[in-house]
Amino acid sequence: MSVQSRQGRPVVAMVGGGQLARMTHQAAIELGQSLRVLAAAPDEPAPQVCPDVVLGDHDVLDDLRRVATGAHALTFDHEGVPTEHLFALQAEGVVVNPPPQALMYAQDKLAMRHRLADLGVPVPGFAEVGAVDDVRAFWDRYPGAVVLKAVRGGYDGRGVWLPETLDEALAIAHEQLAAGVQVLAEQRVELARELSAMVARSQFGQGAAWPVVETVQRNGQCAVVLAPAPGLSDADAAFAESLALSLANELGVVGVMAVELFQTPSGEILVNELAMRPHNSGHWSMDGCTTSQFEQHLRAVLDYPLGDTAARAPLTVMANVLGAAQEPEMSMDERLHHLMARMPDVKVHMYGKGERPDRKVGHVNLVGGFDGDREDPEYVASLRERAERAAHWMATAEWTDGWSVHG
Ligand code: ADP
Repeated sequence: MSVQSRQGRPVVAMVGGGQLARMTHQAAIELGQSLRVLAAAPDEPAPQVCPDVVLGDHDVLDDLRRVATGAHALTFDHEGVPTEHLFALQAEGVVVNPPPQALMYAQDKLAMRHRLADLGVPVPGFAEVGAVDDVRAFWDRYPGAVVLKAVRGGYDGRGVWLPETLDEALAIAHEQLAAGVQVLAEQRVELARELSAMVARSQFGQGAAWPVVETVQRNGQCAVVLAPAPGLSDADAAFAESLALSLANELGVVGVMAVELFQTPSGEILVNELAMRPHNSGHWSMDGCTTSQFEQHLRAVLDYPLGDTAARAPLTVMANVLGAAQEPEMSMDERLHHLMARMPDVKVHMYGKGERPDRKVGHVNLVGGFDGDREDPEYVASLRERAERAAHWMATAEWTDGWSVHG
């Protein structure tokens, strides 16, 4: 028995040792707790800082049992755990939050699309691709506007293809189906922008929504978040928040959930996908909100009352530190030193990861002043420019504005 459970403090076990687990541990510390993690290797982001680590494989039921034993709740830093293992753990009395009955919709994009469509939620047109010819038929429905996706296992744009021609679409489908990948065809939506509605739901059924944010993607992965989303009408914000809350309720989610949304040029809002775990679009809440997504996730899975989700400033900008094409010669620590000297108001969150091209190795949050106005495009652009400058510096050791410490 761990010191923590001897002292009557609850233990949350998280499957996965990535940055989401690392930052959940950070929140656990504030609550007098310590996260237990199932990690594949001791040098992953979470096991570097958590004392209670089980090394193992999230695909192996016995490893999941080892991390779950004695824990008050089992939760996730990624969705890649086989559903049948989670049902087995549940049958053995483990509290799995979010439960597999809900999590399956974050694991399987086709099941998610069907369920959302059944609930009357606006989604892009979609069809299962059982054979290459299904792509031809779908292309006839949406000529030149087809997205192909792996039904399971995709993340950060991996497993998403945007073919320009029918031949290209057929070739992708052929290749993926031959490799045993289950494929889904989706209508390619014309995007004005992407939004994310994050909510939390506790076991007891209490719900809380953060303000809806705008997410900016590069190469299919999130690069910048503007929080709350500038230029979003009160009606659209209320629509997205209540949609996310009612989905969490309908699906029986316990924990936090991000509902990734598309906004079309005519203002229509469609659901892209669901993530039932802390999410990149919620990182701004660590500095920009009363309650961070990581603390809220712990509250929700332990059935504590949920915390206040109000934004602390008119605008917070989050920018990901994405590994440079070529790792800079200057060490990360020296970059940090320079950043602190030049931009003392930037909050830095580094994950302890090695640098590789486009890899998420950290993020920065820049919380705007109280007098800022997120409906003023110049204000938004200048805060965003500063946050991106800081993140880019941390990744590349280059200042986007050409500034040099040597004058
Ligand atoms: P992942 O699971 O890798 O995050 P997503 O399904 O969220 O994959 O797709 C990644 C990105 O690809 C989205 O953020 C969006 O920019 C683009 N995309 C995905 N589906 C569509 C679509 N139906 N229409 C237009 N763009 C899309």
